[in-house]
Amino acid sequence: MLELNHRGATLEMTTAFKKWTICAGLLCAAVLNLPPQMRGQNASAPEQSGPYPSLEIRNVTVIDGSGGPAFGPVNIYIKGNRIERVVSTDAISRKEKDDEAAGGKPPKQADRVIDGKGMYVMPGLIDVHIHINSSKDVPAEYIYKLLLGHGVTTIRTFNVGNDDPRAMVEEKKKIAANQIIAPRMYVYPFWGRGDDPRYSNPDGARQIVDEWHALGVDGIKVIGKPGQWPDVFHAIADQARKNGMGVAVHIGQDGVYPMNAVQIASEGASTIEHHYGYPESSYTTRTIQDLPPGYNYSNEADRFLETGRSWLQADLPKLHGEVIHSLLDSMHKNGFIMVPTFSIYEANRDVTRAANLPWHSTYTLPVVMDSFLPNPAHHASYFYEWTSNKESDWARAYRRWLDFVNDYKNQGGVVAVGSDTGFLFELWGFGTIRELEMLEEAGFSPLETLHAATENGAKVVKNPELGLIRQGYLADLVVLTENPLADVKVFYGNGVTRVGEDRKEVHEQCVKYTIRDGVIFDSQALLKDVRDMVAKAKLPKREGTKP
Ligand SMILES: [Zn+2]
Repeated sequence: MLELNHRGATLEMTTAFKKWTICAGLLCAAVLNLPPQMRGQNASAPEQSGPYPSLEIRNVTVIDGSGGPAFGPVNIYIKGNRIERVVSTDAISRKEKDDEAAGGKPPKQADRVIDGKGMYVMPGLIDVHIHINSSKDVPAEYIYKLLLGHGVTTIRTFNVGNDDPRAMVEEKKKIAANQIIAPRMYVYPFWGRGDDPRYSNPDGARQIVDEWHALGVDGIKVIGKPGQWPDVFHAIADQARKNGMGVAVHIGQDGVYPMNAVQIASEGASTIEHHYGYPESSYTTRTIQDLPPGYNYSNEADRFLETGRSWLQADLPKLHGEVIHSLLDSMHKNGFIMVPTFSIYEANRDVTRAANLPWHSTYTLPVVMDSFLPNPAHHASYFYEWTSNKESDWARAYRRWLDFVNDYKNQGGVVAVGSDTGFLFELWGFGTIRELEMLEEAGFSPLETLHAATENGAKVVKNPELGLIRQGYLADLVVLTENPLADVKVFYGNGVTRVGEDRKEVHEQCVKYTIRDGVIFDSQALLKDVRDMVAKAKLPKREGTKP
């Protein structure tokens, strides 16, 4: 089930898989007694099992997601979809010995036991900036399996195929009922898609927010106008707050003046996505970005190049002083959170790297790769003449942006992980992990990085029972064979390769299980499904055969 060079891992996986198959057989009876919503919808699917009335993960080292250091070995006890308790393994064996000496009965075996000796467990990753760009040729299953295969258990998405709020809520409900193999989903449909005139006026905006709330929508994604007209934005944010909904804002350059980041956050955005609006908040020698006369916002090559250059016009002392202070005020007042999505723009500083990432050949569907290549018909596929000048401007912009976000965190700001994958050569799952690497590049310590991807992500989706390994919390976990604090690359779906002084390569796929709502997914089986889909899509089409 793994590629040929996956030496060490292959043997281990196969044995574990056999053990697991036997285990699953024995447990059938127990699972059938569960209420329907607690049963995996597809008990025969090799990729998933559970939830179980009782699940025990033994002998693991825990990184609990709170920012606290790793600890262990411990056993984690899960009941259905909740963490029941976390107990030190030593304390358990002491108690068992004492009980035995006192002539007590041996403890009841859990319905499913995972022996995690030498493994690490942390809360599942929360990626709060996702597009499920599914279509006839890109099944949602492909995207979901890529995400789960990388340990992502929760996503906040801005579309599922199309932008229809009702259909998005339906998808979310199916996932919650375990009818689809997918991460836990929060839906924030785009504002202003379609021709409803109410999108552009404050009273109409309040009505739409209420209608979406009644549908079960979690929040709103604003990108530029009409949502960014100051009066409309005020109405959206105010009504959303009354309904307990979030507002994620991609500050469009079409409305960045006067609605820059400081303004948008103080007006009640729950998150600002990407990097837009921060440099504009710091200008001291101008109020509006100095753009070349031929600039056309509708031309994406112009748009994406000049937004990077806005950082080069920033006033750094003001950016790190007044701007950060104001954003922190909004954080204390409205719960504002920063979602930088560093990784999605990386092609702008090095398009050759982005286009030639080693996983594209096995994990990127041909149709997805095609959508990344320069094409005016596709969003964000603008690398026609991407020169060294443009890349170096973006590289300098990155240095300022990375420093700014790191300083914001150091001054007390909350930063969460969003990947925005599905564009610009960034693939689902892989982009989430690249985002973790880039937080580290910005200056986040490994604990700060994982904290951003867990507890901070839970704050974004406003779920106080998510993002921590803690008694009573939802059982969304990832089990890894290596320590992610030493190297976040261990999450990558194509694994990690270490080369010793003897030049021997050891390859390992380190994400073992992804557990969402108590349902255990075999992460490597999911990734194999993805590789199979890609291999199949690459087969030459046979001429003249009837469907
Ligand atoms: Zn996006």
